[in-house]
Amino acid sequence: MIEGQPREVRAPRGTELSCRGWQQEAALRMLMNNLDPEVAEAPQELIVYGGTGKAARNWACFDAIVRELRQLGDDETLLVQSGKPVAVFRTHELAPRVLISNAMLVPQWATWDEFRRLEALGLTMYGQMTAGSWIYIGTQGILQGTYETFAEVARQHFDGSLSGRVVLTAGLGGMGGAQPLAVTMNGGVALVVEVDPERIQRRVRIGYCDAWTADLDDALRQVEAARRERRPFSIALLGNAAEVLPDLLKRGFMPDVVTDQTSAHDPVGGYVPAEISLEDALLLRQKSPEIYTDRAMRSMAQHVQAMLEFQRRGAVVFDYGNNLRGQALVAGVEDAFAYPGFVPAYIRPLFCQGKGPFRWVALSGDPEDIRKTDQAAIELFPENEALRRWLTMAEEKVPFQGLPARICWLGYGERARFGLRLNEMVRTGELKAPIVIGRDHLDTGSVASPYRETEGMRDGSDAIADWPILNALLNTASGASWVSVHHGGGVGIGLSIHAGMVVVADGTPEAARRLERVLTNDPGIGVMRHVDAGYPEAIAFAEENGLRAPIPPS
Ligand code: NAD
Repeated sequence: MIEGQPREVRAPRGTELSCRGWQQEAALRMLMNNLDPEVAEAPQELIVYGGTGKAARNWACFDAIVRELRQLGDDETLLVQSGKPVAVFRTHELAPRVLISNAMLVPQWATWDEFRRLEALGLTMYGQMTAGSWIYIGTQGILQGTYETFAEVARQHFDGSLSGRVVLTAGLGGMGGAQPLAVTMNGGVALVVEVDPERIQRRVRIGYCDAWTADLDDALRQVEAARRERRPFSIALLGNAAEVLPDLLKRGFMPDVVTDQTSAHDPVGGYVPAEISLEDALLLRQKSPEIYTDRAMRSMAQHVQAMLEFQRRGAVVFDYGNNLRGQALVAGVEDAFAYPGFVPAYIRPLFCQGKGPFRWVALSGDPEDIRKTDQAAIELFPENEALRRWLTMAEEKVPFQGLPARICWLGYGERARFGLRLNEMVRTGELKAPIVIGRDHLDTGSVASPYRETEGMRDGSDAIADWPILNALLNTASGASWVSVHHGGGVGIGLSIHAGMVVVADGTPEAARRLERVLTNDPGIGVMRHVDAGYPEAIAFAEENGLRAPIPPS
């Protein structure tokens, strides 16, 4: 190994420590795990995921972080400024061992151009959400988030299951490809329109989609049979959504749910216009981007008009965060926003109860440890049917990437109970090594992002970014193992501020104190953020759970 040079990195497994305690060891292993070739998109460039989301600024910084973590005392805290270790201070035993700030810019300078200029000077790093805060666990998160969205659709509209229900959607790309499996995991039938045969084949090959066809009649026969038999089933239909959806309306086909995950956010490099073959569309994209854009915009208008008609005929219709409605509005569809976005419709009610993407990682490296924790979660929350279904199917269908990990959505109260249970399992030796507990920054109280997580807040507070900062301060005060604040994750520079936390269950009484406080307060501030915004569900939940707002919401 040459210091400062790219190389293959993989986290150590087992119980032998290379640091002075498990808190530091956990940070070291999770940094390394983020760069494991099984986990990271471009590990040689330190890129973990999400465009250019990195774990350290450069290889020299990576080496320096590793060196500092190995010698860091139990009463010291390492400061990391956009992927570079900059100082170590004496703090105390229950303080975080690492504090991280990534890509923060003064608001007037918060543009991609300025960020890139500073990055080229070697002064900053894009940390995405869990890349620069060392708690990314691979693609399991996308699948689970999509699963949870459809589970909430089922809870709100279909008595908790999609059994015998048909979801019509489009797009089988990086994110959208999780849709068919997420629907069948909820017991439903998915009909997914995709214009690119290669994307279809990839999803069928890895078992995310059951079947495919290029023949609409054939697709409908198979879908109706599965609906009748209430059999979970997914089929991809090769075609263009802007053509297929109007055609389905003409035939009188009636899905129960309609959404979309084509790459509508990008009318040149993403959405494929109707009435042109994919090959010709790719040529047109190169030759005449203006004509391409114009055709894509018109197609998106047709696509949304069809979705609106499905809504009028009684289907549950929602936008899946790809800005299809926004494009259609620009293209002249005045009522494009007549159907809601997925966060206000399905995720925010969960945020009101402090629910969000909770995850944990086995430092032993032994998949058996995760299987035991899955079982413990099922036993601890027997009433949570969606959780049980997810954990059972995840064991069967989700391959581990890097250190074995699990994700599921848990709320206020549940997270602390489960964290303490994990700590107990480490203490008694039921698990072979400590467990790292963290979450995505896309969570209940930790993000301000007006185009996504905080779209359409009840009191208009979409762009208020005090909450993620308070969240990071609170987690620091509560004794998380490492805490981070980031800018620009998910939607890009200038558009979001968010915070992360990780806390380690090493089986000690000190860890139990950290876990109980962090895993209570972190989702707790999420509930209070929604109380403050006036959500009745959050106000009722806070009252039931003894969370007090100094100025009671009116
Ligand atoms: P992607 O580019 O990997 O995939 C998009 C797919 O859509 C491609 O396979 C493409 O062939 C297909 N497609 C394009 N036009 C089509 C058309 N007219 N008919 C049928 N298929 C068509 O993108 P992705 O990562 O899967 O993300 C999809 C979209 O969802 C993006 O706009 C993304 O920003 C958005 N997204 C939002 C969230 C969120 O807010 N939670 C999460 C993930 C993705």
